[in-house]
Amino acid sequence: MGEPAGAAAGQGTVDAARVVGVDLGGTKIAAALVAEDGTCGEVRTVPTPGAEGPEALLAAVTDLVRDVLAGDGRLAAVRGGERATSGDRLPLGGGRSVAVGIGAAGAIDRDQGVVVSSTDTLAGWAGTPVAARLRDALGVPVAVLNDVDAHALGEARHGAAAGAGSALVVAAGTGIGAAVVLDGDVLPGAHHMAGEMGHLPVPGAEGLFCACGREGHLEAIASGVGLAHLYAALTTDALTSREIVALADRGDAAAQETVRRSATALGRGLAGVVTVLDPEVLLLTGGLAEAGDLWWSSVEAALRADLVDHLADIPLRLGALGPRAAIVGAAEAARDLLAVPMPTPSTPPTPSTPPTPSTPPTPSTPPTPSTPPTPSTPPTPSTPPTTPPATPPSLPPAT
Ligand SMILES: [Zn+2]
Repeated sequence: MGEPAGAAAGQGTVDAARVVGVDLGGTKIAAALVAEDGTCGEVRTVPTPGAEGPEALLAAVTDLVRDVLAGDGRLAAVRGGERATSGDRLPLGGGRSVAVGIGAAGAIDRDQGVVVSSTDTLAGWAGTPVAARLRDALGVPVAVLNDVDAHALGEARHGAAAGAGSALVVAAGTGIGAAVVLDGDVLPGAHHMAGEMGHLPVPGAEGLFCACGREGHLEAIASGVGLAHLYAALTTDALTSREIVALADRGDAAAQETVRRSATALGRGLAGVVTVLDPEVLLLTGGLAEAGDLWWSSVEAALRADLVDHLADIPLRLGALGPRAAIVGAAEAARDLLAVPMPTPSTPPTPSTPPTPSTPPTPSTPPTPSTPPTPSTPPTPSTPPTTPPATPPSLPPAT
């Protein structure tokens, strides 16, 4: 099962780079090579050592990435495409550039690659300079972004939102995660929280407590955990969201009422966010999104009922990539790193200088030599022209 998939990414597409996407979640870490066309190789997983602290987490990710790259190397070696000398420590790139993208739980400063805040699921995770640490450990460029943002990026580049100019992607599972996609990338927000509608106050959630400690938030009623809390409040029975959905399928009235209320709260919350953002497409993913028709139809009915007529027909789609979306999106973020020319500091100013060759005319200012002191300045005009000619030739090819 894994072999053909690995072959698809390792052999089917000969990419210029080998890019690994990693989905670092609360219970497991999953990673795979991802081809330029979004094809995912064999997905390898390990349990998340969430309680053991950031060092253990980073070590687990490092080992997994090496494992994914080495596994691919072995596959390639079998086909004669790559020299396999020491099975365990093959050169990471095998002659090609390598980049790694991490979609991680928590609020992430993507520019710095640092975890800004996190829940207790990952002990000590907040403040961890993930990108820098993994870059040191692996010796390759590393991109880090929030896991739901990675999920949304995957769907935007290669999934159900591909081709859309903008999208709101909402993952309804254990929690409620969301991200805003604009022009093919994820909107970060000034505080790295753009789109996080789980903490939106919504009607129906009054009296229900959210994971953030506040009351009345969307996640407190619309997430899997929220669904279970709502059912417990209505029946005093403690069941999991999966059990409640199954009960609802079998016609249990209380379970159906719970699913309906939970999904309706999500639909109303979505209507509010869609009204503000006016995205081209609305995407639902996660375990609840595949929980069945009662949930989906309740979300959709509440959404469309609350939207003004002009917005009411917004396309509502199920995510196409499933659990691989975050891996694909994380890899895309890493590929974006490779696309950026490394000597960025020197390049930006120079593009503007080529036009400046017009500056040579400035020698025309010497006419002013009517003033005696200026004759000494003319020598300097000779220096400006020399610098622009040197850089322009290299620039056009770069851009
Ligand atoms: Zn909250």
